[in-house]
Amino acid sequence: MARKKNVYFFGGGKADGKADMKNLLGGKGANLAEMSSLGMPVPAGFTITTEVCTAYYGNKGRLPKEVELDVKKALAKVERIMGKKYGDPKNPLLVSVRSGARQSMPGMMDTVLNLGLSSKTLPGFIAKTGNERLAYDAYRRLIMMYADVVMEKAAGIEPPDGMGVREHLEQAMDAMKKKKGVATDVDLDAEDLKKLCRQFKRIVERCIGKVFPDDAEQQLWGGIKAVFQSWNGKRAVSYRRIEGIPDDWGTAVNVQSMVFGNMGRNSATGVAFTRDPATGDNKFYGEWLINAQGEDVVAGIRTPSPLNKATKTDDTQDMESLEEKWPKLYRQLAAIRKELESHYRDMQDIEFTIEDGTLWMLQTRVGKRAGSAAIRMAVDMATNGLIDQDTAIMRVNPEQLDELLHPMLDPEAEKKADVIAKCLPAGPGGAVGQVVLTSEEAEKWAEQGKKVVLVRAETSPEDVHGMHAATAILTAKGGMTSHAALVARGWGKCCIVGCGALAIDAKAKTIAVNGKVIKEGDWVSLNGTTGTVYAGQVPVMPADPERNKWYKKIMRWADAKRQMNVRTNADRPEDAEQAVKFGAEGIGLTRTEHMFFEPERIVHIRAMILAEDEKTRRKAVMKLLPYQKEDFLGIFKAMKGKPVTVRLLDPPLHEFVGGLTDEQTRDLSDQIGVPVAKIKARVEQLHEFNPMLGHRGCRLGVAYPEITEMQARAILEAAAELTKKKVKVLPEIMIPLVGHVNELRHQAAIIDAIAADVKKKYALRKLDYMVGTMIEVPRAAITANQIAEVAEFFSFGTNDLTQMGFGYSRDDVAGFLPTYLRNDILPHDPFQKLDQEGIGQLVAMGVERGRSTRPDLKCGICGEHGGEPSSVKFCHRVGLDYVSCSPFRVPIARFAAAQAAIETPRKTPKAKPRKKTAAKRKTAAKK
Ligand code: ADP
Ligand code: MG
Ligand code: MG
Repeated sequence: MARKKNVYFFGGGKADGKADMKNLLGGKGANLAEMSSLGMPVPAGFTITTEVCTAYYGNKGRLPKEVELDVKKALAKVERIMGKKYGDPKNPLLVSVRSGARQSMPGMMDTVLNLGLSSKTLPGFIAKTGNERLAYDAYRRLIMMYADVVMEKAAGIEPPDGMGVREHLEQAMDAMKKKKGVATDVDLDAEDLKKLCRQFKRIVERCIGKVFPDDAEQQLWGGIKAVFQSWNGKRAVSYRRIEGIPDDWGTAVNVQSMVFGNMGRNSATGVAFTRDPATGDNKFYGEWLINAQGEDVVAGIRTPSPLNKATKTDDTQDMESLEEKWPKLYRQLAAIRKELESHYRDMQDIEFTIEDGTLWMLQTRVGKRAGSAAIRMAVDMATNGLIDQDTAIMRVNPEQLDELLHPMLDPEAEKKADVIAKCLPAGPGGAVGQVVLTSEEAEKWAEQGKKVVLVRAETSPEDVHGMHAATAILTAKGGMTSHAALVARGWGKCCIVGCGALAIDAKAKTIAVNGKVIKEGDWVSLNGTTGTVYAGQVPVMPADPERNKWYKKIMRWADAKRQMNVRTNADRPEDAEQAVKFGAEGIGLTRTEHMFFEPERIVHIRAMILAEDEKTRRKAVMKLLPYQKEDFLGIFKAMKGKPVTVRLLDPPLHEFVGGLTDEQTRDLSDQIGVPVAKIKARVEQLHEFNPMLGHRGCRLGVAYPEITEMQARAILEAAAELTKKKVKVLPEIMIPLVGHVNELRHQAAIIDAIAADVKKKYALRKLDYMVGTMIEVPRAAITANQIAEVAEFFSFGTNDLTQMGFGYSRDDVAGFLPTYLRNDILPHDPFQKLDQEGIGQLVAMGVERGRSTRPDLKCGICGEHGGEPSSVKFCHRVGLDYVSCSPFRVPIARFAAAQAAIETPRKTPKAKPRKKTAAKRKTAAKK
């Protein structure tokens, strides 16, 4: 039997692997193989599979013997193609060792370049290349990367002074530059670098207590193991947590022959996107540096130049583009760009190196992009036939729409605002926050509920947690492809980079910029679309996505595709109008309790609560009728005939009388003529140990039917008035917190009686309304078949259902949930993302049982989950007719619903506006 293949070769126009083998070869390895097979110039190399990574961890951090043999075989093949030998003193081959997981984790894991350089191979390398400077530039890079990645991080060494070996080495290099009076590393000559290498080795020994291995063989295995080890490094683990990448995927290792962009003035390295990742514009977009290697562009060591004339900005006007400097090479690269896009049918993010006038491709992967760019590219590609509409819809992560729905700085206020600096716009949108200078502070302040702008010289993967906590990110160095830009764009976060004018003083916690001083805690405002930084707080404006033609188009496609309706949760006409603008097709939840808190109303509700007998109570409640009616008239009008679900009073009464001061109590006593002592006693009496499980929801309406009567009358009279005026209204009256069908029967009977009365009063032949219930108590889901005898619709209140299903108090969950998430007890916060295998099953059961009694039972969801993409998709799968969410989530829900319909199409079409229910309510049949 053939044994498992551990190592896959690529190079010389051939490859063992393919692009679709990402799980085994990692993204980088799979794509290097693909590019090689396409005949693109890829330096030869091989990929050790992710399965070996898993085996490595299963084998207590040792490589299986057969892997060693396979690596040696593959290396020999690379040596034949390159005509050099690894570790050979006369003609040494140098290699890089590169990590590469299934999904790209930019900068999260470690790569070591120039392996194979040692005192034994250096002379031969110099003789062969005739370039001593190159040799020592490569060597100093090797020492630094190897010490950092292999000897320190992979070995799990925590530097005692908090300063890693890399920083010590960088300081030594800075000192050397200073002594020579030069600005950049390219100004150091061979002698300087040679000296630097000697110094580097001494520093490594001092910092780590071990000698840098002067042996090619040892370097190779050290590098390979370190890449496997880096999979469980701190940075990689924290990135996986944020992005939800499973821990057991493992990484592949790519060993690849080196090509040198640092060979001199005829060499260069660069990074590019096949389209503009910030805007989605169909322009080849990238940055490059002459005489540089590897990560110099991304690390922002020197400011890179633009790739072509078309993408120059005011700031880069004077820099020489690759197109101008080396037109032939640029054309070759542009042709590769075209071929890659038509081959992969998606925007690619590429790395290339030019070694002494020859172009080499080092990486391609699907490029991260800002939300608006994702939409534009998807629409453009579908319009040009590169992809179909379904693919276009699937290309955009529903959360990415958020960016377009999000605020921007008010342009009028911007004109008058105090500009501090203008730099590179790396992540669009507007943001306002207080300045902090470290990721630790960013996280700490954010936890205190502050909005912060993280300001750094440059960011590294160590900053990810702080970047996540910050509202926006501002860096002094780096270009549009720097780490900060890449990560922020992935998250749709406002970000500005390359702000050379910032002089950050970490000790004093200040930033000097163009003669101004900003202190930690000062407010700044960022326009990430133009790259402008302002002092102070510039007012922020709501979004207006309808101005974006690509957005409009893709939403049209999505709406045609989806099979669920999308409604909104709105208590006020203004919110309802905003939601309708965002595409809401009705209201799934109007809470009525907010309406009671206004000063002229709360008196009456308090009077009602304090009433001694039914007569007084009824009198007090009825005083609220005109107000409530006005509320509903407003909302019904705003919804112009779209369905509106109104939920009757839900919170415990204590909320309306709790926290009264002595003075307020005296005032109340004067107003309603109840003695102070009585009020106090009643308040005392209303106190509950577990108000969330106490006298609330329909339990109120059962105890005080007057409340239900008044609310039903307000709703139905508002509807009747509008019906009289030939305005269409579709009220759906929703009873909260039902756990037993008899609760619902009791309430529905009241409502039906009021409806009959209202019909008479307004001399109407027909008054359209429905009575339904929230399903938010687990018992309701279980007995849904009984409840559906009465209810004409269900609305799953998944907030309460999660609370009661898990037995987690929503208000107290912060005490233990973070610990649960950290320890992987729960995969995510179930109040944010519906717990599909638990609480979701209650929803599925509720729908199924409900429809077993009433086949046309209308089902929806109105918890926070109704706007969360994975939960929306679940709702589609279990057959809900609609989801309802806050106005700003409506487009996201529409889009997620479309994706769900593409992923798992269902037979039932989207519900038509309203069908009359067939089955009659059986209010009378009480058992
Ligand atoms: P990352 O995943 O962080 O992008 P890479 O493995 O791509 O890490 O490597 C880091 C840098 O080193 C990149 O700029 C890459 O192009 C460069 N690099 C990697 N291998 C080679 C090589 N064999 N020759 C030249 N440059 C290389
Ligand atoms: Mg890379
Ligand atoms: Mg509830």
